[in-house]
Parts: sequence; C-alpha cells; structure tokens
Amino acid sequence: MKCPISLEFFPPKTPEGAEKLRAARQKLYALQPEFCSVTFGAGGSTQEGTLQTVRDIMGEGVSAAPHLSCIGQTRDSIRERLVAYREAGIRRIVALRGDLPSGYGLGGEFRYASDLVAFIRSETGRHFHLEVAAYPEVHPQARSPDADLQAFIAKVEAGADSGITQYFFNADAYFRYVDELRRRGVELPVVPGIMPIASSSQLLRFSDACGAEVPRWIRLRLQAYGDDTASIKAFGLDVVAGLCEQLCKGGAPGLHFYTMNQAAATLEICRRLGL
Ligand code: FAD
Repeated sequence: MKCPISLEFFPPKTPEGAEKLRAARQKLYALQPEFCSVTFGAGGSTQEGTLQTVRDIMGEGVSAAPHLSCIGQTRDSIRERLVAYREAGIRRIVALRGDLPSGYGLGGEFRYASDLVAFIRSETGRHFHLEVAAYPEVHPQARSPDADLQAFIAKVEAGADSGITQYFFNADAYFRYVDELRRRGVELPVVPGIMPIASSSQLLRFSDACGAEVPRWIRLRLQAYGDDTASIKAFGLDVVAGLCEQLCKGGAPGLHFYTMNQAAATLEICRRLGL
C-alpha cells in the first residue's frame, strides 16, 4: 500500500528524554516520513525545546515542522518566532490557536488560528507551507458542526495549505468531514491524525480533554484488560491498523502519526499496512 507518512513528536524535557527520542526517530526514519512535526506547549512554554528538536531532526536530514500556537501571544512574540523559524531554514509550520490552562482566560492579540494564518501570510508571504488543525468529530468548543467546518474554511481562506485532523477511531467521521469540505469547494488535502493505542488510561484521559471519541466497544475492551498491557497493545494495534487501512483504501492523502515519542506502535502499524 502507498500512503505518505508524517510523524509528530513533543519536545523532550530532559537529556534522557532527548536521547530516547533520538533513538525512536532513528527507527522511525525507516518509514521515510514526508516530514516530522514538533508540538508547541501552551502559551509558548516549550518554544525553545520545539525549535531545538526541529533543528535536531533537520540535522538528521529529515524535513521538520514546528507547531506554533497563538493563544496568549502578541504580534511581536509571533513575529520573533517566525524570524527564528526562518533563520533555522524551516519551510513548514503547523499553525494553531492552542489552549491555555483553565483559569488563564484567552488573552493575547490573536483569537483564532485563522488570525495566526493570516498574520503569518502577511509577515512572510508564501515562505512557509502552513498546516492547520481539522476536527472530524467537531472541536469541543465549537458552536455547532457547521460552525466548526466554517472555522476550518476560514483558515483555508486565510492561506492554509493543508489540514491534519485530531485523532479519531471512526473512519466515517473523517470521510463525511472531507465530503462536506469538498461540497463547499474546499479541495486541499486533509490528512488523518492517527493515535496508536499504548495505554488505556492515557488514551481515555487525552480523549476526554481533546474531544476525540473513544467508541464504547473500544473503551469497554480497554477497561476489561485492566493492567494487562500486552493485551491492550495487541488490541490497540489491531484497531488502529484496521482504521489506517480503511483510511488509505478510502483515499486519505496520508497518515500523520501522533507517536508520543515512541517508535514501536507506529512501526508495527505501518508494517501491517505494508508501508
Ligand atoms: P481554531 O481553528 O482557532 O478553533 C478553535 C475553536 O474556535 C473551534 O471550536 C472553532 O470552531 C472556533 N472558531 C474558530 N474560528 C471561529 C470564529 N471566527 N468564530 C467563532 N468560533 C470560531 N495544541 C497545542 O497547545 N500545541 C500543539 O502543538 C498542538 N498541536 C496540534 C496538532 C494538531 C494536528 C491538532 C489537531 C491539534 C493540536 N493542538 C495543539 C490542539 C489545539 O491547539 C486545540 O485543539 C485548540 O483548542 C484549537 O486549536 P485550533 O488551531 O484548531 O483553533
């Protein structure tokens, strides 16, 4: 099967974490990723770590894209980041609104990711390829599914080049979302974000926070496995490899793996897909 792959990492907090990530990346490069992206902590809390990790990846000969979130930021602070990204030779950014920890309100000079995309285009023209977030199962703060589609289209109209989705386990939600976009004349690629299942508690915690639905049958099976991590991993591989197969066969333009800085699950899923 042919399907372009991209990989997402988060910036490690310790030298040991950096070493583990380096080792994981070396294994994952066997997949010949189109690019690797590196997340950006709430309010810019990891911005130096994000840039350093991107530099490390580029130094390994692989294309890399930092994430950049605008919530709580000023035009000057974003401008500074864009200069740093440009000077580092970066050509692709994942442009996001981001979230601040509860209690921090909104703040800053940007309200939505579409404002950030417009600002990046006005400051740097077409220098960067801009990826934006898409939500086949609807962003948790959206007023309605329709309003959320409109929010995605606003990012496209502001200058985004492609979308990466929040992860999901229901392929129909993705195909329907893309159909809705096509019906509205939006043709850009929307790459599904894939979350390998490694731990039941982590997945359920993450999913509650970001609004990704874990179907009842998956949730109940995971709960039934309790502490049996081998069974959780085996079940997770079956579920996620099956999902990826459906997506690729259905015409998804690529797969973006949320690796959680681990190599094994992503490698095994891709092996099963023959990628
Ligand atoms: P937006 O597109 O601005 O949307 C946010 C909300 O506002 C949505 O509910 C939308 O419907 C609504 N909205 C947008 N425009 C309007 C409008 N004009 N009027 C009314 N409502 C509107 N978070 C991080 O902190 N760091 C990361 O590195 C990171 N990486 C991510 C990568 C991917 C691929 C994805 C899918 C998510 C990532 N996130 C990250 C999470 C993301 O920051 C959150 O989901 C955040 O809540 C929304 O960001 P956004 O860019 O989608 O925002």
